[in-house]
Amino acid sequence: MPLQIKYYGVRGSVPVSGADFTRFGGNTTCCFVRHGDTRIIIDAGTGIRMLGLDLMASGIAQQGGVLHLLFTHTHWDHVQGFPFFVPAFLPNVHLHIYGQTKTFMAPDGKEDVWDIERTLKVQQHFMYFPVDTHYMASQKTYHAIAPGDSFRIDNVRIACLALYHPNTTLAFRFEADNKVFVFSTDVEHNDKMIEELAAFASGADILAYDCQYTTAEYEAGKVGWGHSTYDSAIAICQRGKIRELHMIHHDPLHTDNTLLAMEADAKSKFPNAIMIPEGYSCTLG
Ligand SMILES: [Zn+2]
Ligand SMILES: [Zn+2]
Repeated sequence: MPLQIKYYGVRGSVPVSGADFTRFGGNTTCCFVRHGDTRIIIDAGTGIRMLGLDLMASGIAQQGGVLHLLFTHTHWDHVQGFPFFVPAFLPNVHLHIYGQTKTFMAPDGKEDVWDIERTLKVQQHFMYFPVDTHYMASQKTYHAIAPGDSFRIDNVRIACLALYHPNTTLAFRFEADNKVFVFSTDVEHNDKMIEELAAFASGADILAYDCQYTTAEYEAGKVGWGHSTYDSAIAICQRGKIRELHMIHHDPLHTDNTLLAMEADAKSKFPNAIMIPEGYSCTLG
């Protein structure tokens, strides 16, 4: 059975629009992975709004479908589309939501625990949005996931790796019928991270990776910002013998022309590099 992948949002940090952004799109991170009737969504950036409409058009409301939503992390560009995800409002949809639990020390010395349920609920506090998550009528089951976890959703095996990024991100390795797709954003590279990712994504058919900057941009003032370069992505692909690189998490300042120039440079070093436009889809197997 094939593993199908479709990108509904590939912009990083904040959505963009305008004539300079028509080719690669402006919606923030959302990727849909499908294996038979198993539907897995990675992140709920603004791209998830269109995915929700596509799922509605495919009849999910009538079928009473099951959806799995995995969060890499909960920065705004990865959660801000959730309040606009129509299937979450349908009582006959069962939504499994997976995310990390983070514990902070409050000023009074007490532990302040943020699981994925609380994090999404706070985003829809009445001060920010008129509809609380409580009123989203789908059946919701929350799952805590952490670095090093591996689990199954139907016949898809999923593994999680900690990525170097403020508040820690999860990379996901999806494996089904001997096809492997690895999704890795947001991440800042270093020697250890490159080595760990090459091992984690070893032999993958596709690595989707945070290629927000050129190496020149990164070195000129983006060190410590939590994002990476396509040169680092290529190093991971070469070391891990990965077949194809999908360049994602486009900088909001990067126009279509800039992204095309970055893609040409990346292809000159690694021919199977693709600068992913919003709406891009492919099938493994
Ligand atoms: Zn991001
Ligand atoms: Zn982030």
